[in-house]
Amino acid sequence: MEEVQEKSLNFIEQIVEKDLQEGKNDGRIQTRFPPEPNGYLHIGHVKAICMDFGIAEKYNGVCNLRFDDTNPVKEDTEYVDSIQQDIAWLGFRWGNVYYASDYFQKLYDLAIRFIKEGKAYVDEQSAEQIAEQKGTPTEAGKESPFRNRPIDENLRLFQAMQNGEIEDGKMVLRAKIDMANPNMHFRDPIMYRIITTHPHHRTGRRWNVYPMYDFAHGQSDYFEGVTHSICTLEFVVHRPLYDYFIDQFADSDYRPHQYEFNRLNITYTVMSKRKMLQLVKEGLVAGWDDPRMPTVCGLRRRGYTAEAIREFINKIGYTKVEGMIDLGLLEHTIRESLKETAPRVCAIFDPVKLVLTNYEGEGETIVAENIDGHSELGTREMQFARELYIERGDFLENADKNFFRLSPGGREVRLKSAYIIQATGCEKDENGNITTVYATYDPTSKSGTEGGNRKTKATINWVECKSCIDAEVRLYDRLFACENPSAEEGDFRELLNPDSLRVVNCKAEGSLRKEMHQPEIVNGIAQCNHYQLLKQGYFVVDPDTTENHLVLNRTASLKDNWQK
Ligand code: ATP
Ligand code: MG
Repeated sequence: MEEVQEKSLNFIEQIVEKDLQEGKNDGRIQTRFPPEPNGYLHIGHVKAICMDFGIAEKYNGVCNLRFDDTNPVKEDTEYVDSIQQDIAWLGFRWGNVYYASDYFQKLYDLAIRFIKEGKAYVDEQSAEQIAEQKGTPTEAGKESPFRNRPIDENLRLFQAMQNGEIEDGKMVLRAKIDMANPNMHFRDPIMYRIITTHPHHRTGRRWNVYPMYDFAHGQSDYFEGVTHSICTLEFVVHRPLYDYFIDQFADSDYRPHQYEFNRLNITYTVMSKRKMLQLVKEGLVAGWDDPRMPTVCGLRRRGYTAEAIREFINKIGYTKVEGMIDLGLLEHTIRESLKETAPRVCAIFDPVKLVLTNYEGEGETIVAENIDGHSELGTREMQFARELYIERGDFLENADKNFFRLSPGGREVRLKSAYIIQATGCEKDENGNITTVYATYDPTSKSGTEGGNRKTKATINWVECKSCIDAEVRLYDRLFACENPSAEEGDFRELLNPDSLRVVNCKAEGSLRKEMHQPEIVNGIAQCNHYQLLKQGYFVVDPDTTENHLVLNRTASLKDNWQK
């Protein structure tokens, strides 16, 4: 497991501070966050977002949002919109919104220039043939038979590719660099491919050729004036090519520089849009925002706050070695945050009726603090009466002395925020199941009064029968049953945790009635409140809630198994 420690300046901040001291780029700091709009953002992206936007914020720079939309097969405006929503929700502000597709004409012109300068050629081999000729890191590759075709022919064919005269996959444009270079990325990388099957989400049918990542990313950084182009470690091997392409056309001394940090991987989940899309498409989860998904919208629906997610990223920090982060740390972070803020309420998951035989009258209102000992955080009203629901497990007909909760002739037990009671007996149905528990209460023992100080060995939760509401609770657990599903052989879908969702109908205290409406939507995002259901865990109201039906999602259990 990756070491987690507090740090002062991360290594990228150190580089930025040194650049500023040396007066590089006239003290200008410009970063970008470059998602491909082919899926929803996940928590791995948040690590990149916190870096890209964080550097700009900290050093008075600007971070632009750039959609790396060079593959129309997988991209969609649905993703463009959700990405913007999620970044704003996380609390970051971008300078401009750019699209790699804004540069298609410029990049095309640049490709023509490369061809004219003898630096690019049209290859008619198949992808398999090209791959076969790549060689190995220790063995030079083989030159394509089309490598030395005349410039005019290359120009004509590339234009034919763009004109839609050539079928997808029949030709590519390759950079003519060095088939023997020890860096395999220099062995005549593909610059352009043909895609005619799908319209582009912004440029429609205008283009039939699309630039590859390596030919688009560095150029886009250069066009925009990016100073620090920060990405993840798998791009280290691309960096020389990033520099090479820019060097071929740059008309000034300015250069964007690429820096790399370790990707975020978390146990018991996957961090790949491709796999997430598969889970969504095959209905193995309820959608991108399924509360078990590591997506930003999934975590939000699970009850994670933007603050807690950012705090988590802050805790794990940035290094240059790949590793794996314990899911327990993420859960620990939200728990610590909600502990301070989530109002407490009662909900009974497995109810049995409790009748207080000596309770006379209509009932009363009990005022309880939202969080015990924090009067500044407000109070709520709980209805109390003769008939209540308690957890079935809080009563035992025949208990030994180690059972501190209700049992006939047993100990005194406090009803949370209310009175002390003592069980007297119970009633059963023909199958022997307990249907009602009977008890007497002590009218002088009410919490908040003098008698309320009397101690009992146990306190139990309750809700009042008439005022309580039925609520659906969705008990979520980890999505995968094994620690690192990406490292296992075989089909990752078979590693899904079969118990990742359990639905329970509970009796919730009437004060939650105020949550029974469709949550308000602000900037496309449902505003949902957080609660601690006493003894059960942290929960958030789910957007499926209506006037007639309350749905609560479990964000995290109360038990913290995170060990530093
Ligand atoms: P995926 O493999 O899930 O499709 P990606 O890297 O292709 O992810 P992009 O949309 O291209 O996704 O990523 C945008 C930015 O987010 C990139 O700079 C990328 O390095 C960064 N990023 C993606 N995944 C992670 C991760 N797990 N940890 C940190 N940064 C990430
Ligand atoms: Mg990508």
